[in-house]
Amino acid sequence: MEFNIINTTKNRECLIFRNYKFHFSRNLVSGNISWRCIKKDCSAYVKTNCSKSTLIEIKDIHNHEPNSIEDLNLLEVRGKCKRKACEDLNLRPNKIIRITHGAIFM
Ligand SMILES: [Zn+2]
Repeated sequence: MEFNIINTTKNRECLIFRNYKFHFSRNLVSGNISWRCIKKDCSAYVKTNCSKSTLIEIKDIHNHEPNSIEDLNLLEVRGKCKRKACEDLNLRPNKIIRITHGAIFM
């Protein structure tokens, strides 16, 4: 099961799974993390392990359509730029953007 975790413009983490967006909900007692669908009236959720590397529980029954690919790509580019900039502050912004696009569209 593939999923992505991105940083939104508000610098909050957002999980993307099957074109649906989930926002961080809470840390569970077990150490796992619960993510809820961003639509307030939708009860879909997923859970990841504490390092956010594996989905351990999925309840993705949504009452709405998924986000468009364009929408998600935009978000993802922003998130990746931000992360790249944090990792290597010497990279110039135009280079960062080029790398990010290459990674996504190649
Ligand atoms: Zn939903």
